[in-house]
Amino acid sequence: MAQATKMGADTATLEKRRKSLTGHQCSKCRQDISFGDMLMVKVIEMENGRPRSHQVVYHRKCYGV
Ligand SMILES: [Zn+2]
Repeated sequence: MAQATKMGADTATLEKRRKSLTGHQCSKCRQDISFGDMLMVKVIEMENGRPRSHQVVYHRKCYGV
């Protein structure tokens, strides 16, 4: 019987995944973001007197610099 290993994907596969695009654009530079680069930030804003949270995505390098 095949046994599930905890090894998971090899590095080539991981690298490929890291570089594939998430479909999100950076809130700062408006460029596409790859999986390895994505940073999600939860932002809470007041809307009509009620707190409303939403996610903002950045490149790691674009956030907080
Ligand atoms: Zn960016």
